[in-house]
Amino acid sequence: MTETRIIDVECKCGQELARYKKVKRGSLQKMYLDMILEDRAGVFSRKFEVQENIYSPNCKKRIATIYMIHGRPAAKINHGAVKSTRT
Ligand SMILES: [Zn+2]
Repeated sequence: MTETRIIDVECKCGQELARYKKVKRGSLQKMYLDMILEDRAGVFSRKFEVQENIYSPNCKKRIATIYMIHGRPAAKINHGAVKSTRT
């Protein structure tokens, strides 16, 4: 059984980053770009190169790095900058 939850991802500075459709339980490790429902800071809706960094538009901290995971582009979360989210 897969459980899907909609979560809000926020930077530690308070900047809203994304509304994300999370499938597995546990803490948020990565966000598949095609599962981001709302790109609230306007930082995920473009073409990325692998290992490109994404920054918070507010505090300029690195919030994620792009990797290919199971053949899909995904933003691997930098836990130092993003509020931890568990489901
Ligand atoms: Zn920030």
